[in-house]
Amino acid sequence: MPHSESPPESENSPIPMANVDQEQEDTVAESTTAQIPEAQQPADEDVDMTDSNAVLSAPTNGTTHTSESKAGSSAETPNNQDTPVPETATSAPSESKPATGVKLEELFDEMDSDDDEFPTTKAAKREPASSPDLLSSQSDMEIDLHEASDPEVMRTFYQRLFPWRYLFQWLNHSPTPTNDFGHREFAFTLQNDAYLRYQSFTTSDLLRKDVLRLMPSRFEIGPVYTANPRDRKTLRNSSAFRPLSKELCFDIDLTDYDDIRTCCDKANICQKCWQFITMAIKVVDTALREDFGFKHIMWVYSGRRGAHAWVCDKSARALDDQKRRAIAGYLEVIRGGAQSGKKVNLRRPLHPHLVRSLDILKQHFQSDVLEAQDPWRTEDQQEKLLALLPSDQKQLVSALRNKWASSPDRPSTLKWADIDTVAKTSTAKNFDTKSLLDAKQDIVLEYTYPRLDIEVSKKLNHLLKSPFVVHPGTGRVCVPIDVKRGLESFDPLGVPTVQSLIREIDEWKKPETKEGGQEQEVEKHVVDWEKTSLKGYIEFFRSFVIGLMKDEREIKVKREREEGGGGESMEF
Ligand SMILES: [Zn+2]
Repeated sequence: MPHSESPPESENSPIPMANVDQEQEDTVAESTTAQIPEAQQPADEDVDMTDSNAVLSAPTNGTTHTSESKAGSSAETPNNQDTPVPETATSAPSESKPATGVKLEELFDEMDSDDDEFPTTKAAKREPASSPDLLSSQSDMEIDLHEASDPEVMRTFYQRLFPWRYLFQWLNHSPTPTNDFGHREFAFTLQNDAYLRYQSFTTSDLLRKDVLRLMPSRFEIGPVYTANPRDRKTLRNSSAFRPLSKELCFDIDLTDYDDIRTCCDKANICQKCWQFITMAIKVVDTALREDFGFKHIMWVYSGRRGAHAWVCDKSARALDDQKRRAIAGYLEVIRGGAQSGKKVNLRRPLHPHLVRSLDILKQHFQSDVLEAQDPWRTEDQQEKLLALLPSDQKQLVSALRNKWASSPDRPSTLKWADIDTVAKTSTAKNFDTKSLLDAKQDIVLEYTYPRLDIEVSKKLNHLLKSPFVVHPGTGRVCVPIDVKRGLESFDPLGVPTVQSLIREIDEWKKPETKEGGQEQEVEKHVVDWEKTSLKGYIEFFRSFVIGLMKDEREIKVKREREEGGGGESMEF
């Protein structure tokens, strides 16, 4: 069994809340109530933002949790044929039909029409943040640098652009409020960096109102609990308050690629190194769909240098920690952190998941690694490559070193080709072609295979930054990535910032209509996000949520039929 050597953490171990690295940007160490000192519990309802005792200390700059915490070993990867697959994952809930003829889309249209969640320009004119004064006196660059966390900018964003209703439907799995939403934990990072956990809301409007009141710079989403998170202290029996379900999440961050990317480091990214994320998404997404049968997988840009996956299928949400660890272990091949040494050393024959992954990754290796990153160009760098060749092929290694000595700065593409060319001319009697081929496959995987921060995936009660919040450092919105249609073309640096979006609202002109009589109607129906470049992202999110709710309803109808409950089911 994978991970059997890493025992579950004690419920009583202190939560490393202050250890969370803001630069790590996205995730917060999980905890249960028992792990938080009582004195630091946030006051439940009315939190005074100036009262630092009322909230937990903020995530501050600390150690990254990626390097030391990866407990698995490469031997536990898909090479291990025993890796359990969740038994629920294969039964796709698609057979039964909804009981009623009402289309979900129509239902939402109706609900949207009498709702002021997305005010139009007319209504929003009173908002100070959209006034020309705020945006015209400075250059765009200055605005982008200084005002991403400006309270008025954030207020405008939450008030006019954030897709509250779809966020609610996404987490609630139904248009009408259920415990899936009401017992869900939200955690706010306030403007003063205080961190407020165990917030919960019965409706999207109450969540929205509290966000507008507290103006968090961002917020995170935790699990659905057995009871309302706000009531946890009134529950005497600790087992009465425990996490029940949560999306299965994955986190990929470019800082874990610092030892192989040559174009950028730390918080910096460019289109070249973003390709590591692109290939990682392809591999993980494919495995989750083909090997585990998951259908509702949403990838979200983390706002700076990474991406998160939210696997939202009901079967994924119900996974316990052990199964989450098993899936994370199945996908983990590379351990990040260590700067030297061979990271990949796989058993043969390769697990089918790795054969398929290699197939996906080899073209990326050629163009995005060898050509774009040129990782072994210098003499120092080429030693890294030579160190990855089989240790018993010293002749080959020295022949290559000699060849490259006469042509300094030989590009990596040629050096990679040289390995085979030189190997073919080898005079060694027992030259082991197979071990060289295996080593080359290992190298391809080391330079392309997803580097996951699997701590995020292992536990039901891990919090993860919400989609569509603004990254305080870059001002960019954490938008979903359309993996089917827009993965290759996704440009993280082209993602709208909160400031650019507010400008777009102000600059929006209503489309010309041929018949004057329709003009008013056009204006009435255009909500603010539709006037901005957020439109495509929110529409994608909406269609994702509709697909999820549709399946969810089919599961429910099926279950009711099986139970013979039918119409008189216990629902109120
Ligand atoms: Zn780069």
